[in-house]
Amino acid sequence: MTAPYRDLLATIRVCFPQPISNRVHDSYFVHSVMRAMDAVDALKSERPILGQRTPLDYDKAREASLSEGGMSVEEVTAELVSYCSGLTIPGHPHTQQNVIPPPTISSLIGVLLASLYNPNLGWDEYSHRLALAEVEMVAMTARLVGYEPSRAGGVFTFGGTGTTLYGAKIGLEKAIPGAMASGVQEGAVIFASESSHYCRYNIAGWLGLGANSVITVSTDSRNAMNVEIFREQARGVLQRGGKIAAIIVTMGTTDAFGLDDLAAIVAVRDELVEEFQLPYQPHVHADAVIGWAWSVFNDYDFEGNPLGFRPRTLRALAGARLAIHGLYLADSVGIDFHKSGFAPYISSLVLFKNYDDLALIHRPQEQMPYLYQFGTHRPGMYTVETSRAGGGILAALANMKLFGKQGLQVIIGHIVEMSQLLREHLEGNNSTTVLNRENFGPVTLFRVYPRGIDTFRIKEEESTDVAYRETLQSHNEYNRKVFQYVHQEAMEGRGAVLSLTDCYRVSDYGEPIVALKSFILSPFVDEEGIEVVVQKVLEARNRIEE
Ligand SMILES: *Cc1c(COP(=O)(O)O)cnc(C)c1O
Repeated sequence: MTAPYRDLLATIRVCFPQPISNRVHDSYFVHSVMRAMDAVDALKSERPILGQRTPLDYDKAREASLSEGGMSVEEVTAELVSYCSGLTIPGHPHTQQNVIPPPTISSLIGVLLASLYNPNLGWDEYSHRLALAEVEMVAMTARLVGYEPSRAGGVFTFGGTGTTLYGAKIGLEKAIPGAMASGVQEGAVIFASESSHYCRYNIAGWLGLGANSVITVSTDSRNAMNVEIFREQARGVLQRGGKIAAIIVTMGTTDAFGLDDLAAIVAVRDELVEEFQLPYQPHVHADAVIGWAWSVFNDYDFEGNPLGFRPRTLRALAGARLAIHGLYLADSVGIDFHKSGFAPYISSLVLFKNYDDLALIHRPQEQMPYLYQFGTHRPGMYTVETSRAGGGILAALANMKLFGKQGLQVIIGHIVEMSQLLREHLEGNNSTTVLNRENFGPVTLFRVYPRGIDTFRIKEEESTDVAYRETLQSHNEYNRKVFQYVHQEAMEGRGAVLSLTDCYRVSDYGEPIVALKSFILSPFVDEEGIEVVVQKVLEARNRIEE
């Protein structure tokens, strides 16, 4: 008699893709995926969300426990699909919420393949040809941003935050040699602009420098770091005998696609090294997790304009190019394929101009006795992760092959064209004002004003004149109300999903400026999706004033 567990084991084995070729079973697997997709499809409507948004019952969630028996693959699928209900559809032409792209079919297949066979990118013994894929991606993107590919190096890591962490960590090792082994005995500071990503605080905290060691440099009206102020603050640190772990230069801020003047910041760095005879070069990390994709326009023929973008679009693309083509000046660059690269989370690459920089965080072999005894490609000897998934790499590679440079030009060009169109519409209306008119990116920040307000003057007055503090506050409230209405409507399937930012900038007298935000990142957004934004916003205004 066979043991009872044996019967159960047989059913459990059916739940795995078969290790030995079995076409009949493959079709069961694919069919199960199809059924999941069918079930998700049933949640689709005209609305930009799947199924319904219902209130989330966390108390009930806390009652979860492991049940005695299991479920079938089909039952589990139904369970899983239920968790998708209420999600925003990032590709929907009415979704303009944030920097969340819809992933392509090829990138999803990349993730699936890497999940099926579970390569671990720490060591080519466990990842084999996926190690090549990572090296190819490093070479391809190094060329794209203008690094010398034979000198450059890089790794995929756990997100844009991870890429900045690497930049700052390597910089810390340069400023305080041996910190990896001896810890951070003396402090060091990190510079970043006030429009840079908040992960700077997290990184400084986790590196043991402390979030208070971040020096936040103010920005100009275009959300770029004020280089003069940076120079003064950096000189101040060095005069006091302090050290600079890293200078984070943001190439495409999250909220407003602000672009720092990388060349000027690098020049200040070089000047300070000279002036203070520093024994190290403060590390310049370009946080280009959003902006990197614009480097496909580095060699675009702007005069001939073969893709036929409109003049306003061309101007914005050429403006961004001015900043982005200098990316090679940075010591390291952070790239998110899960943002402007149309890959699913997580797909992030940190590139170093000099591969040798990575040697600064190499661990000694003795610390890892059961790994890396042979072979030549062993990123696991310096990566922050131990197990490192291949999905992000194959997803990124898939999209680079799928689109080519031209495909990315088309998508980026289109989303910029659509945001320019939105700005035209909003500017053409006398109750709305665009805050980041001159900006080159796909995000539009705007405010709506009550009837009777002169929107030509109010923007300037609110942001510079302290006498307008209360007016600014009340208009902030007004814009929150507009947002609530638009959001509510969108969730009901009417209109577009936008975002709200609590602080687009602070006014000259220190008051936050609230703004509505349209972040266009879906290739499916078209003129109709632009018009609907304007209609909804005006409708909101009428409702509020009724
Ligand atoms: C999104 C973002 C980050 C953080 O990236 P994650 O992938 O979310 O960790 C860092 N910097 C900028 C400019 C970003 O937009």
